[in-house]
Amino acid sequence: MTSIEKLKFLKEDQVRTLAKEFGTPLFVYSEKEIEQKCDDTLAFPNAFGLQVRYAMKANPNSNILQIMKKKGILIDASSEHEVVRALHFGFSPESIMLTSQEFPKAFVELIGKGVKFNACSLRQLELFGQHFPGKSVSIRFNPGLGSGHTKKTDVGGVTSSFGIWHEKLEEVKAIVNKYNLVVEKVHTHIGSGSDPEVWKAVAKYTLEYAESFPSVTVVSLGGGYKVGRMEDEKSTNLQTIGAPVKIQFEEFAKKHGRKLILEIEPGTYLIALCGALLTTVDDKVDTGKHGFQFLKLDTGMDSNTRPSLYGARHPLITVKKDGGIPSSHKEYVVVGHCCESGDVFTQKEGGEPITRLMGEAEIGDYVVMEAIGAYCSSMSTKNYNSFPETAEVLLRKNGETKLIRKKEPVMEIFRNEILVVE
Ligand SMILES: *Cc1c(COP(=O)(O)O)cnc(C)c1O
Repeated sequence: MTSIEKLKFLKEDQVRTLAKEFGTPLFVYSEKEIEQKCDDTLAFPNAFGLQVRYAMKANPNSNILQIMKKKGILIDASSEHEVVRALHFGFSPESIMLTSQEFPKAFVELIGKGVKFNACSLRQLELFGQHFPGKSVSIRFNPGLGSGHTKKTDVGGVTSSFGIWHEKLEEVKAIVNKYNLVVEKVHTHIGSGSDPEVWKAVAKYTLEYAESFPSVTVVSLGGGYKVGRMEDEKSTNLQTIGAPVKIQFEEFAKKHGRKLILEIEPGTYLIALCGALLTTVDDKVDTGKHGFQFLKLDTGMDSNTRPSLYGARHPLITVKKDGGIPSSHKEYVVVGHCCESGDVFTQKEGGEPITRLMGEAEIGDYVVMEAIGAYCSSMSTKNYNSFPETAEVLLRKNGETKLIRKKEPVMEIFRNEILVVE
């Protein structure tokens, strides 16, 4: 039996107060928790220096970016649009590196400004050379193995299109020589929720790529550090996985006389546990003696798609609306409000509904979905069924509660449409 989940950084009274003041659904983030994660990440073991980039796709709210910026954390952008967003909120071009599946349409403008470029394919490297001969560039390799918490978040190995296949080193060198490029960084990122053992092996390969390019000064090992959202899930300890990698860097320095700077790019690790989604039980239905008891929440895959996409589990905690604690525990299938059979928060990978043991809930009670800081607000089926974008609140360090994103007015959902049919 799985254990009953608990609130992470909120208190029950606070849940009731926030829900009454701002309504539900509501994303709530904690500045204190985010700063703590920044500090943990900045303490990553390293031999000759460390750079931390925040993979902003995890959650790009400007206030979250601002907290990271104040901590000296740089930006990993996954599209040219994320670059524009980070620039808009005050990151210098030099503090942003673009690692993009799609070659940016505004490439010359953005890279010309000083944004760092991580070439993710031979084509990207060739185009960089054509436009910026003699300039510094980073190269992303696919090291031939990957690891993610599910197959869908594994971005290394033969099944992955991310990065330049490791056997193409000679082709990379040919392009580098043709355009006199300075390879200042080699980069790997093998998945989200990676197995620490695989990650360590990949660190070794990445150092081998650094060996091939004497101009390399920074080695980036990407992100993907596992975060346990549920009580029975393990988190990666950064000190533990970082220690052997630090030794690898020291050995590299002894052998080659080069002191490499380590770069890491956490998304999940920095923000996943720093947010909670407050929801209200809208309805309860059941499917008879041999069926299930369902709780329907006033949110859905339009705020958190991870359960339907990956079968991901998030803690679900009942908070009674009038105070007190739930009188008993019950097995529920918890579903979202979208008109879509896959909008189920408790399901296996593949879609089969499963029950979750949680505090008994009545219509009107709150259910807090925990560990929704990463890839929820930013990666949802937003506006499906014309549900507006969910509001976001930040709990400030000084105890204040601030709205950081308004609930989207419904009219905004279709503002770009042009009615031409009379
Ligand atoms: C998404 C991404 C990350 C962050 O991954 P997490 O699993 O959220 O830590 C880091 N680097 C790159 C290149 C990415 O695409």
